Amino acid sequence: MSDIGLHHVTAFSGPAARNRDFYTRILGLRLVKKTVNFDDPGTYHLYYGDETGRPGTILTFFPIAQAAPGRVGVGETQETAFVVPRTAIAAWLDRLAAHGVPHDVPVRAFGDTILRFTDPDGMALALVGTDAAGTAPTWTGSDLAPEHAIRGFHGVTLRLAETAPTAAILTEVFGFTEAGREGAAIRYAGTAGQGGFVTLHAAGEAPRGRQGAGSVHHIAFRAADDAAQAAMVAALTGKHGLAVTEQRDRQYFRSVYFREPGGVLFEIATDIPGFSVDEPVESLGTELKLPANLEPHRDRIAAVLPALA
Ligand code: ZN
Repeated sequence: MSDIGLHHVTAFSGPAARNRDFYTRILGLRLVKKTVNFDDPGTYHLYYGDETGRPGTILTFFPIAQAAPGRVGVGETQETAFVVPRTAIAAWLDRLAAHGVPHDVPVRAFGDTILRFTDPDGMALALVGTDAAGTAPTWTGSDLAPEHAIRGFHGVTLRLAETAPTAAILTEVFGFTEAGREGAAIRYAGTAGQGGFVTLHAAGEAPRGRQGAGSVHHIAFRAADDAAQAAMVAALTGKHGLAVTEQRDRQYFRSVYFREPGGVLFEIATDIPGFSVDEPVESLGTELKLPANLEPHRDRIAAVLPALA
């Protein structure tokens, strides 16, 4: 049985080098995989996470140099949050200010301290300071003190016209339980120490957004293995009448996709095999990695990708 929580979050960004610099040098995440969008090999797919890219720590991007900025609307992920120890928030406030990162003053919600900020593409991010962030292993290759480093995801907030249909998927298919309500937000908790929270924000008949740089394309939930994933698919198609794609081999996990009732693209990704399947942990993210079917086209693919030294 896998932990209940997010596996990864995937978003669009602007230029690849700027994206890489922000997430590795300012946020202190590790680039754990440099590959391409398997469905569009002329575009990078960059994966950031902890030392090994454990499920619940992985934020991925499709960088498109000329992408127009997105605008968040209903049926989308409105915020992606990382977890840090509560005592680290003051240091992060200084760090974001020192790097000129736009941010708000910290606020309290659901008992946590939340520091909201945006990445260079305007993607809405937050650091959630909790007393439970604990001593989860993190990436020690950055200049951050270990006691300040990001521990992985806290969770995501989805902006929805109505929350009940999406909540049914979270609770009945994935096993989340309601953990609290504040204003128009309802929080659901899984069991994972990283990425264990999904908050649903009821926005009523608010306008739809526009996907672009800084927009989350989809969020992925964890399944321990193929059998666990198949059981979730059976519940989605049988009990909830939703259409789910066939399984796709994403090299580092195996995935199915579906549009949940609130309009957000959901994925279910297996915990296996993980990011060390095609390069050792020590050198994760250093080489351009391609799946076997794209390897014969390596030279042509590498020639169109922007430099990312
Ligand atoms: Zn994905």
